[in-house]
Amino acid sequence: MAQSEQISVFDILKIGVGPSSSHTLGPWRAAQRFVAELEVKTGLSEVVSLQIHLYGSLAKTGKGHGTDTAILLSLIGEDPETMDTDTIFPKAAAISLNKMLFLNGENPIIFDPQTDILFHKQENLPFHPNGMTLTAHLKNSELFSETYYSVGGGFVVKEGEVLNPKEAVNLPYPCGEPKDLLRQCEATGKSIHELVWDNELAWRPFSVIRTGLLTIWDEMVQCAYRGCHTSGELPGGLNVTRRAPLMHQNLSGVADYHNPEEWLTAIMQGDHDFQQVLRWVSCFAIAVNEENASFGRVVTAPTNGAAGVIPAVLLYYLCFVQKEIDEEKAIQFLLIAGEIGSYYKKGATISAAMGGCQAEIGVSSSMAAAALTECMGGTVEQALMAAEIAMEHHLGMTCDPVGGLVQIPCIERNSMGAMKAITASHLALQSDPSKAKVTLDDVIKTMWETAQDMNAKYKETSEGGLATNIPVSLPEC
Ligand code: SF4
Repeated sequence: MAQSEQISVFDILKIGVGPSSSHTLGPWRAAQRFVAELEVKTGLSEVVSLQIHLYGSLAKTGKGHGTDTAILLSLIGEDPETMDTDTIFPKAAAISLNKMLFLNGENPIIFDPQTDILFHKQENLPFHPNGMTLTAHLKNSELFSETYYSVGGGFVVKEGEVLNPKEAVNLPYPCGEPKDLLRQCEATGKSIHELVWDNELAWRPFSVIRTGLLTIWDEMVQCAYRGCHTSGELPGGLNVTRRAPLMHQNLSGVADYHNPEEWLTAIMQGDHDFQQVLRWVSCFAIAVNEENASFGRVVTAPTNGAAGVIPAVLLYYLCFVQKEIDEEKAIQFLLIAGEIGSYYKKGATISAAMGGCQAEIGVSSSMAAAALTECMGGTVEQALMAAEIAMEHHLGMTCDPVGGLVQIPCIERNSMGAMKAITASHLALQSDPSKAKVTLDDVIKTMWETAQDMNAKYKETSEGGLATNIPVSLPEC
């Protein structure tokens, strides 16, 4: 088998900060790389000033997606995985007010975000719509400049660099496409999660995989919990009221709990009819994405705009199907979801700037559908069928965020993506996959062709669709 791109589950599921993996997390990581390279090249004390140029989709929706804020935090040495998210706005505001920052937390430079972050809305760099160039002016009058591309899901590529430059490992079961996964599972008798686990061991030891996946699971629960208990308006100027707290209050009533673990126990203790389960799934998805829209900590899965789908479906499974918070099942679910996401990254795209919302919500729904199906006892074929069904009914979905913010239609779309994943899974569990006419391989190929045919205004530019039909008056970027 030809060597295919190697993508770990931990590349697809990452802890970060909202609202966007490609416009917040990616630029954050790109600026971190630039500062690290600058330190090696010249030392940060040699820097006099910096300019950041944003192009294409990053320029068009960067303000609403927090690209400028992410870059500021990155330049001062903050990390999206660990920083206190309550300090995001105060720290960014302080830089704007003082017109200076401490590069990597130590080296003072003059920096005015108004004039030193430039949004080139009418220009695209050649490789990808999400391009950014960072330039440092040095004391010796020389310039140090690098260009990066945020290619979706928080992945970053430097100009001239190959995609996924990390060192190749010897995977016991290399799979470039879903059909490889099916063949390897048939040959070994392994389920998807068993095979993916064995591959993950090529990158990191057992305990690190387990701890890493449980940390991701914990972050998902914490995020849903925060979203269900935080009221008010979302930032950005659209004046969108958070809906999850009221939905949650109507569902949970007077349940008594004091932390996320007790909360989940209280949810499971209730009697839930079909309508209530539907409402809980929406509530989980919306809670996560309201947190995402508020620059909260989320798990990118496979993007931030779609971060609510996987937690909502996983919580559906554990709370209402399994009726038990089983860590082993959560691990299995995340392994399968991450593996399915990797096939879209390899064979199509997980970037809305390349493929519209089918590449975000469609992919997350497909990931969740496969994971739910295997966890509910489905075969490998049924899990892949569920993934196919979920994507088949997201094909062509455009990205048209109102005001360039990850709020409308994004937040509700997570609830819809979760519902489609659950429906796809139940359909597959009642079907004979050998009779299916469309494979997951076919639908990934179709999704990529649809992405290439899609009008550019529907690719995270806010120049078409709902973004132009819903009048808003937001500050110009
Ligand atoms: S419309 Fe979809 S792809 Fe576009 S920003 Fe919103 S969630 Fe992301």
